[in-house]
Amino acid sequence: MRIKRIIVENQVKDSSYVKNILDKMKHREIVFIDNYTDWFGRYHKPYLDKRNNLQLFLARKQGKTVKPAPEAYGVSGEPHYYFVHAYNCIYECEYCYLQGYFRSPDLVLFTNHDEIRDSMTEITRSFNSNVWFHAGEFSDSLALSHITEEWAEYSNWLQQHPNAKIELRTKSANLRGLRNVNPHENLIISYSIAPEDQVRRYDRSASALDARLRALQKLYQRSFKLGLHCDPVIYNPKVFENYRNLFLKIKHFLPLEVFEYLSIGMVRFAKDTFSALNQNYPQSALLAEEFVTGSDGKKRYARHIRLRTLNKLKEIAIESGFRSESVYICMEEDSMQTGTPALLQQ
Ligand code: SF4
Repeated sequence: MRIKRIIVENQVKDSSYVKNILDKMKHREIVFIDNYTDWFGRYHKPYLDKRNNLQLFLARKQGKTVKPAPEAYGVSGEPHYYFVHAYNCIYECEYCYLQGYFRSPDLVLFTNHDEIRDSMTEITRSFNSNVWFHAGEFSDSLALSHITEEWAEYSNWLQQHPNAKIELRTKSANLRGLRNVNPHENLIISYSIAPEDQVRRYDRSASALDARLRALQKLYQRSFKLGLHCDPVIYNPKVFENYRNLFLKIKHFLPLEVFEYLSIGMVRFAKDTFSALNQNYPQSALLAEEFVTGSDGKKRYARHIRLRTLNKLKEIAIESGFRSESVYICMEEDSMQTGTPALLQQ
């Protein structure tokens, strides 16, 4: 791994969680500091330094560790929250919103999982309905999980909180962090996928499509609950054929009806992400797409393209074998369908 230096907050250095991580990442320079916020993002660090000059912070997340998700996030009709266990990602998808979000690509792993789960407990108790907690909002949930090994405790926590659901979202075929995790009916491992040519072109260094599908197959064989995100969809004249073939391909690995949900969303960019894309990947084919800027400042395809593409892909997904009630369209700002979720791109 390209991590050159590990920077540890003094207040967490004696935790067994931190010691375990340090044990697995020997032979790196280790520096002790008082507060990661004095260092992380204090000065602008070029995003592409993530390729060969990464630092890893181990720190306590200050302030809120669990936050309400944006309105209409995830499967509709139930409250959604996300929890903050890490910042940044070792992968490099060209459309990733993280490139315009933080001032540094350095990784931060938060170590106060007990506090995160305490907040989740408090929120769960305040509802009679199911409550969703999403990981992977600011990072990939599995990419480094063999080092962090936090998910077993979260799965155990679910045993005591039957109305809570946890989603771990990923593009990583690294399942080592789930070796000691007991499947739970409310623990959903969800993969972001796309047709092969899109994955090859844009998902730099994330796991290949076949590797993701093999990982899904292994998880299915272990009885994990699974979700899929076809997000972001990038338009091209063969988009419908490509997704039809993708769904056919998934069927070679596992049945489509087993998925708890399939979300479908078109590519979109916040202003800062789009400028970062310009700077980081000036040759990207995404820059040649015809986007319009919405009233929320985001760049997307024109509304008629989004409407037609998303509705047609939903139709193709159901024809291909996904349960109709499991398929939903995400991140649209209007009433093109009911229960519109607003998932950020993983
Ligand atoms: S889109 Fe997801 S997997 Fe890709 S770089 Fe961003 S956080 Fe990592």
